[in-house]
Amino acid sequence: MYTPLPSADQLLERERLSYSVMGVKWATLLSFFLIAAIYLTIYSHPEPVISLIEAMLFTAPVFAIGLAGHIFFSNVVSHKHLRSFLVCYLVLLNFAWLIIISRLAEAATVDASGAAAIAGIESVVDILILTFAIALFPNRIIMLMMVLPLMAFNVMIRLDEIPNNFIFPATKFFCFAVILYTGQQVFSSWFVQSILRNLENKKLLQQFKRLALVDGLTNLSNRRHFDDILLQEIKVTERNNRPLSLIMLDVDYFKRLNDKAGHQAGDECLSQLGQLLAQSAMRPRDLAARYGGEEFVIVLPETDIAGAGAIAANIKADIAALKLPHPDSENGEFVTVSQGVCQWRNGMSATDFTANADKMLYQAKQAGRDQFVVDEQ
Ligand code: GH3
Ligand code: MG
Ligand code: MG
Repeated sequence: MYTPLPSADQLLERERLSYSVMGVKWATLLSFFLIAAIYLTIYSHPEPVISLIEAMLFTAPVFAIGLAGHIFFSNVVSHKHLRSFLVCYLVLLNFAWLIIISRLAEAATVDASGAAAIAGIESVVDILILTFAIALFPNRIIMLMMVLPLMAFNVMIRLDEIPNNFIFPATKFFCFAVILYTGQQVFSSWFVQSILRNLENKKLLQQFKRLALVDGLTNLSNRRHFDDILLQEIKVTERNNRPLSLIMLDVDYFKRLNDKAGHQAGDECLSQLGQLLAQSAMRPRDLAARYGGEEFVIVLPETDIAGAGAIAANIKADIAALKLPHPDSENGEFVTVSQGVCQWRNGMSATDFTANADKMLYQAKQAGRDQFVVDEQ
């Protein structure tokens, strides 16, 4: 009746991955904008460090990998190797970016306006670091795998330009590392809290639904759930012209069982019958419910009267095999039930249908109990 909820760990892992995939798609689009900004800078600069054609050539891998990744992650949302795909994609994208910025840095050092270009390249790398840190915040390892090479690159181009000034790039590297590490911890703990709260709410909702639809003693569906499902199944049957049957059961001489063996023994008997009936309603759409007191119903979609009769015969045999003691029955020393079996006919309301099953049940009682009567009409 309920789809099982995933464990907290499974859910966290899944959500981390799905947010990372979303983030990576967003970061890929930002990469494209960043490349467009590089083109614009080169185009508008009187003496660019490299030509626009060369820039296009070097940025082609980012476009190709980014486009392929964007299409892939837009279509493949769940796959058992999704995490590995994500890591491979990021490694390739990072590599493609490092090629562009290395080429720009190399050209900048031989150019007259080198210092300004280096500062520009450093800014591009900073933007990339920020983008990927935000995009991948739920996944610390993948995030660090992406941003650490870029941060190391920034240190290297600074040292390349001014080899004896180690303090500034090292401090910047250290500050970035601390900010990213601690910031990631804060965001990640919010993320985890919100996912867990969500799971808790879902669990509560499931418990409420269960309380509203399940009978506490027998663990079968309760009368309210039966009424809803019967209406639904009648509608389906009307539309599809498929058979629908109903069995109504009542425990024989139950009042005497209560009186002789006590209410607790009566409750235990109902609970055991509940388990047995749940197993008798085998198909996914079958529904066994407690109709009230010691009366039960079984809704059998896609089942004609012959099939329903066979199920009633099995229930009779199974209950006999269960040998639940009855101290004061006219039918022997064990608990027995009477059953009324009928099939839905055109134009019948849910009330007509249950009344018909009840009529068959009454006939079974009249005929001496411990038997089922099938409506053969
Ligand atoms: P018959 O063979 O004609 O069905 O007789 P019966 O005694 O089973 O029928 P009757 O309707 O007279 O008695 C049903 C009894 O079921 C009366 C009521 O006290 C008892 N009952 C209803 N709900 C529960 C329950 O949850 N637990 C227990 N222990 N008894 C219940
Ligand atoms: Mg009764
Ligand atoms: Mg009874």
